Amino acid sequence: MKAFAYVNAANQQEALAALSTATRGRRLPLAGGTDLLGLMKDYVAEPDVLVNVKNLPAGIAVPAQGLAVIGAAATLTDVADHAALAKTYPALTDAARGVGTPQIRNVGTVGGNLMQRPRCWYFRNEEFHCLKKGGARCFAVEGENQYHAIFGDGPCHIVHPSSLAPPLIAYNARIKVAGPQGEREIEAGTFFLMPDRNMFGETVLEPTELVTEVVIPTPRNVSAATYEVKFKQSHDWSIVTASVALRMSGGGGGVVESARVVLGAVAPVPWRSLPAEQMLKGKRVDEAVAWQAAEAALADARPMSGNGYKVQVAKTALRRAIMKATGAKVV
Ligand SMILES: Cc1cc2nc3c(=O)[nH]c(=O)nc-3n(C[C@H](O)[C@H](O)[C@H](O)COP(=O)(O)OP(=O)(O)OC[C@H]3O[C@@H](n4cnc5c(N)ncnc54)[C@H](O)[C@@H]3O)c2cc1C
Ligand code: SF4
Repeated sequence: MKAFAYVNAANQQEALAALSTATRGRRLPLAGGTDLLGLMKDYVAEPDVLVNVKNLPAGIAVPAQGLAVIGAAATLTDVADHAALAKTYPALTDAARGVGTPQIRNVGTVGGNLMQRPRCWYFRNEEFHCLKKGGARCFAVEGENQYHAIFGDGPCHIVHPSSLAPPLIAYNARIKVAGPQGEREIEAGTFFLMPDRNMFGETVLEPTELVTEVVIPTPRNVSAATYEVKFKQSHDWSIVTASVALRMSGGGGGVVESARVVLGAVAPVPWRSLPAEQMLKGKRVDEAVAWQAAEAALADARPMSGNGYKVQVAKTALRRAIMKATGAKVV
């Protein structure tokens, strides 16, 4: 690991001050370190300065009305174990429970989860100078791509690794960000950027900015769920994950008024499926409708040479997430 200086910021203000002159990759926030330290040990990240951001807001508040607020420094365990959060936002707490191992969840933070870098094995290996590191080619195109994207058409074919992002987008959350120019709020659905808009990062965040909080509107008449497919008993990232939030019509009868459908680990950003949302709208959900929505969601998938299997896995994950949201028991 390359030598670095460490700024132990006591609060958000000190952290922002320490990052105010940051340029890409040279000064980096350090939260739980479960992602960043691995990158540094592999010489993929080589910052000159690390700034402790564990003293950013870490509380979780879930009022009966209004916005739920989750501090960026809340750990994944804080999210997974929060009873009020689980009652109102089960698709989010389920996703948090599925992350890694208890040890990872105990130190990994919400801010770090949204900002974690891709798991592409070429990106993580210092020997491969790929597009994402300023090189001339994507090694996954002709190489090993069984966990890569099935949507997006490149030129970089990563999948976004965050488990929290799909349910946050399904719940229409906003990401609060602070920087030298003050604070701004960004819809979770527009926070992540495709590689053609940001090859060297995955979000809209500037190097001088920090994620400070996530705010989520109170869902009204919404049934939501997350379903993820992993290798059996694995603590690894999901092969595919699906989050759905179904707003049911007020008149009863189980008809979907509107839906938000987000797939994870299928594209460089959490992948919102408008065709599936359209398919669900106005329907009474049963197995057949859930399958139709899953077929619609994957109709435009363009798998690479080694990941065609993910199309069927994604259909199954989405069908099960939809059925789970209706209260059906799924395996
Ligand atoms: C074995 C293993 C399994 C895992 N499985 C999963 C999984 O299934 N799903 C999943 O989603 N993740 C998984 N992870 C990743 C883990 O969840 C994330 O690494 C963790 O949430 C990151 O949080 P952190 O606080 O440790 O971030 P750090 O490692 O400290 O930081 C990660 C990145 O975010 C930046 N950063 C941190 N906080 C902020 C902030 N507030 N504002 C701006 N930038 C910030 C850092 O500069 C760095 O670039 C796994 C990790 C491991 C090691
Ligand atoms: S998928 Fe992206 S990160 Fe991976 S080798 Fe290709 S360009 Fe690099």
